[in-house]
Amino acid sequence: MLKKLLVANRGEIAVRVIRAAKDLGIKTVAVHSAADATSLHVLLADEAVNIGPPAAKKSYLNIDAIIEAAKSTGCDSIHPGYGFLAENATFSDAVTAAGLVFVGPSGDAIRLMGDKVSARSAAAAAGVPVVPGSTGRVEGIEAARHILIDTGFPVMIKAAAGGGGRGIRIANNLAEFEQAFPQAEAEALAAFGDGGLYMEKVIGKARHIEVQVLADGKHAIHCYERECSLQRRRQKVWEEAPSRALSEELREELCGSAVALAKAVGYSGAGTVEYLYDDEANRFYFIEMNTRIQVEHPVTEAITGIDLVSEMLRIAGGEPLRIRQKDVSVRGHAIEVRINAEDPSKDFAPFPGTVGDLRLPGGPGVRFDSMLYPGYQVPPFYDSLLAKLIVHGETREAAITRLVRALGELKIDGMKTTKPLFLALAADPSVQAGDVHTRWLEGWLNDNAAKLAD
Ligand code: ADP
Ligand code: ADP
Ligand code: MG
Repeated sequence: MLKKLLVANRGEIAVRVIRAAKDLGIKTVAVHSAADATSLHVLLADEAVNIGPPAAKKSYLNIDAIIEAAKSTGCDSIHPGYGFLAENATFSDAVTAAGLVFVGPSGDAIRLMGDKVSARSAAAAAGVPVVPGSTGRVEGIEAARHILIDTGFPVMIKAAAGGGGRGIRIANNLAEFEQAFPQAEAEALAAFGDGGLYMEKVIGKARHIEVQVLADGKHAIHCYERECSLQRRRQKVWEEAPSRALSEELREELCGSAVALAKAVGYSGAGTVEYLYDDEANRFYFIEMNTRIQVEHPVTEAITGIDLVSEMLRIAGGEPLRIRQKDVSVRGHAIEVRINAEDPSKDFAPFPGTVGDLRLPGGPGVRFDSMLYPGYQVPPFYDSLLAKLIVHGETREAAITRLVRALGELKIDGMKTTKPLFLALAADPSVQAGDVHTRWLEGWLNDNAAKLAD
């Protein structure tokens, strides 16, 4: 078992990981930038180390400073959270080379599955259906034109190193394509330090459905699926489990394919295999694998009763996977919404500020994962996620009713948040019926965003 863990992250996920570690009796060390000296993760950890100035490049992305902090405080392990260095193979390797345990997959596994192009090939090789498109990276516009024969229009140009909904462009015709391709290349290089591109047919009216896996390098299980079809700019804003779109038969097939893939690559730790599901054609396609804990993992915890971060820590500590597939079962329905410091009535403009009066939701079936406390100053340098509200109920209807109740209890004075968005979505007939797809919210926002004032 691990004894002392450094958490290489900030915000709600650093708090989440610190809690899981403490529940296992593991000592915790927080790292923070100069802007985060009084952040909740710093206040909750047993020790804290300042690793640099506010800019993430100089602090939360500073591999040397983080490893030095772990060594100087006598840690035996590092958990990367999500974002920042979580899917950085160099970091995983550097942690291991320093004689520490990386709570996540090996550098090689991240290189294989974190690169979206090689992951696509690995999925295809494991017999998992992928979206029609390019094989390998597309080298130059000439090669790209050939692939259009398979994809047709609209076509997606995607960065091999992309993530978080960034590095994706759609071209509706040849003229748009000729213009978009070189732009995508330059952008990918600038944003991710890697200009590698690939192409996929656009699956219209798809649902985003992903499968949570846990593996120890030998064994792999799944913890069922999450549906994350409500997205803005290809980023999830509302996630739930289970998906109401899957039949039992399809659920087994989908979850089975994720386990097969995890086994085929000898995966270790927690991971998520993401798919697009086309309701009408009743087909699913692999899109990518996230080799880390995801933002939306609590909805799976709610319906399965498994503490995913705790299992990650146990696996990293050398314990074999202790959960059998037959012991994973689903109870009820869970929904998570992302409470961001953004003004939804002003095109989701960031709204950093100081938390005034604060009233948190609670009671049966409610979990609130957050970094908030009264007087906390939200720094302007990082992601705008403040909190995640997770509700659990016996049915999807009960979960939505509970969501509205919990949102009503929540009061964050001092800043605009995305709360009005979720109250409006919970009242929408299409959301209530679960009749949505990945581009549904875009259209809905065109008609309704102006009404979302707090
Ligand atoms: P990221 O690494 O940014 O998460 P993904 O490849 O997972 O990128 O895609 C993010 C979102 O973009 C998906 O959830 C989906 O909404 C949309 N998307 C991605 N690929 C396709 C596709 N081939 N057809 C239609 N939508 C897609
Ligand atoms: P297989 O042996 O069929 O390739 P695995 O070895 O991955 O598959 O796991 C077989 C089943 O045993 C899985 O469904 C999994 O639930 C369960 N299992 C999980 N952890 C262990 C473990 N440490 N030892 C044995 N079986 C495990
Ligand atoms: Mg994704």
